[in-house]
This record gives sequence, C-alpha cells and structure tokens, in this order.
Amino acid sequence: MSNEANTKPPVDSSTLATETGRNPEDNFGIVNPPVYHASTVLFPTVEAFESRYREVPHRRVTYGLHGTPTTFALEEAVTELEGGYGSVVTSSGLSAITTALLAFLSTGDDVLVSDSVYAPTREFCDETLARLGIAVRYFDPRIGENIADLIQDNTRVVFLESPGSLTFEVQDTPQITRAARRAGAVTILDNTWATPLYFRAFDHEVDVSLHAATKYLSGHADLMLGLIVTNEACYEPVRQVAMRLGQCAGPDDVYLTLRGIRTLNVRLERHFEQGVALASWLENRPEVKQVLHPALDSHPDHEIWRRDFGGASGLFGFILNDIDRPALLRMVNGMALFGIGASWGGYESLMIPVYPERYRTATAWPETGPVLRVHVGLASIRDLIEDFERGFDRLNQI
Ligand SMILES: *Cc1c(COP(=O)(O)O)cnc(C)c1O
Repeated sequence: MSNEANTKPPVDSSTLATETGRNPEDNFGIVNPPVYHASTVLFPTVEAFESRYREVPHRRVTYGLHGTPTTFALEEAVTELEGGYGSVVTSSGLSAITTALLAFLSTGDDVLVSDSVYAPTREFCDETLARLGIAVRYFDPRIGENIADLIQDNTRVVFLESPGSLTFEVQDTPQITRAARRAGAVTILDNTWATPLYFRAFDHEVDVSLHAATKYLSGHADLMLGLIVTNEACYEPVRQVAMRLGQCAGPDDVYLTLRGIRTLNVRLERHFEQGVALASWLENRPEVKQVLHPALDSHPDHEIWRRDFGGASGLFGFILNDIDRPALLRMVNGMALFGIGASWGGYESLMIPVYPERYRTATAWPETGPVLRVHVGLASIRDLIEDFERGFDRLNQI
C-alpha cells in the first residue's frame, strides 16, 4: 500500500518497475526481497499476540494468510506502477475478479457487465451472483456515455474489460467511469491485457483495476496469481472481503511475479512490436476477413486506444473467411511455434479458435467465419510469420 503514489512526481514507468517494492537495506543489501514462507508468526507475549491487529493493521506480519514482506513488496510495486492507493494479492486472476465483485455487491443490487468480458467472469455473474439475488445485466462494450441510461438506483458496480480478451473492443473507459461515478456506482476494470504499463486505470477514474498476474506480470507461463489494485475508498472493502474469503497466494509465485515486473517493460515492447507486425501482415492475407487489433488503423476503436493506452500487448484476434473445419484444423494443428492452449502473456506464442457468439447476450456477433486468437510471444517475428505462411499453405491445400 502506498498512499503517496498519486502525489509523487510522475516517474517513467520503466524506472518505477526497477525501483519499486524493494528495500535492499532491510535485507543485507540483497537486490531482491526474499521469499518468506510462513503460516504461524510468533509473538513474545500474550499481550503482543492479543493486540496484533491493533496498530497499522494491514502491514503487520501477523499470520501467513494475511501477508508477508514478500506479498507486501509485490502489492507496493503494482500499486505504485498503476498509481492506485493499495493492492491485494489473490490466488488467481479469476479470484481477483470474484473477490472484487463480492466486495461491492449484495442481494438486491444490480451489476452492469460488459458483453465482451472473459467467459469465466460471465459464468460467475450468471451462476453465483444471480444465485445470491444480484441482478446481472450486460451492455454493449461500445456503449460509451450511454451507460448512464442503464444505471439504476440499485446499480452498485459497472464491470469493464478493455479490450475484451476475445473480441478486442476497446471501451471508452473515461466516459463509462464518469457516468458511474456520478451515479455512485463502483467501476471495476479487468486490465489484464494492457497491464499497468499500458493503461493507467486510475488516470481514467477507474475505482478498482484487476490483473491476472498469471499473464504478463509474471510473464513465463509458470504460475497463477491475481492482483486487485484500488483507489482509497475501495481499498478497505476489497481487503476485508479478500481476508474473509481466505485469499492468499504461494510465496514463490508472489516472488516470481515481482521478478517478472522488473522486465515487464522490455517484454511488453517486444510483444507490442511483434504483435503489430504479425497483425499487419495478416491484414494483407487473402484468407483473412478482418484483424481485431486495437493498434491497427482499421480497428473501429483505434482512436480510443490511441487516446488512452500507452501500447498494445501481444494478444489479438483475426477472422478468417468462411472455410470448413478440416481446413482450419490443418492450419492450427500444424503450427510449429504457436501452441494450442489457454492463457497467454508468457514468452511463448499461442493460437486457438474462439467462439464469441457463445458468450454474448447484449450484442450479436455478426461474423460467420472462424475467429482465431493469437498470442505473439518473443520468438523471432520472421520465424513466426514463416510459420503462418506454412499454416496458410496447409489451410489452402485441397
Ligand atoms: C486469464 C484471464 C483471467 C483469469 O486469470 P487466471 O489467473 O487464469 O484465473 C482474467 N481476465 C482475463 C482478461 C484473462 O485473460
């Protein structure tokens, strides 16, 4: 937690990423904060044990579940990077989402959710929140200021994901957060795609920004972790619910995420550059109907992306012309450098078919051709494009 983050002079995020969340002088001068493994924490006396929550409650080391210096270092780093007030570490990206929603919603409340959200977010809303008597309504991700027309007296939360991680609509976040704030609703943004480096949520009046640190923040496809970053008003509600739910994460995963953040800027620059290169190349292929990449001029939300984002990550989509499934499988199954698997944000490249029409209720998905989602990793872009050339050759085989 750092309540000074917003008042500090702006520091370049690359510099911040290398300086934040470490105090070598506390640890023999060693560059990285150590990995503390802990459950029990011992106190010298009964009096000390019984008063353990009394002073500065959330920075004290009181019990493994409630954080260690390793967790606090990561929380401080991500809070500073994003310009929030405080952060909470959770066990996965999905648990960051469910914890943040539960922090603000009660029976009888209404939540507005972008129609382009990550499918498990939608399932949690439709199954769990609905069962608790919370009304869930979806809205067109491109709704902008017209969100005001949907907000009711009992709307407590507006949930955004920008861009949507299957279909890549970029939301007009400032318009939506302004309308929500006027109506007293909390805005929660799934900011996993952009990371704190490419979208500073609190500069756009978002109240709660969350991250699947499983993706770029850790960056090596070897752990599960979630982070919830909040403004001052939302910090205590989120921290309390995270504690009640028993949220915590393994110390090695926390450590590796903090280590990942040290190189996030260079990794993201490469993902950005190579993602745009592959997306532009795909745009000129006759097999491709449309590329869904916010950094391309052709993207319908390109202007919003340019206005609000500092870059693009390596995840985007493209729509093929109508082809039969065997042709699609010949292409995707035969890729040498693009793995078939969920998640993204690591150094490796991935490609999977996705089915946006299955996850929409407020808007229709008009396309009939297959949609592929690509994560462009850190291998040479020449090799990646050649892999695609061979992929299209297989697709076109008769
Ligand atoms: C992967 C993902 C999540 C969930 O993260 P996990 O760590 O896999 O639970 C949430 N939001 C988005 C946009 C994601 O891509």
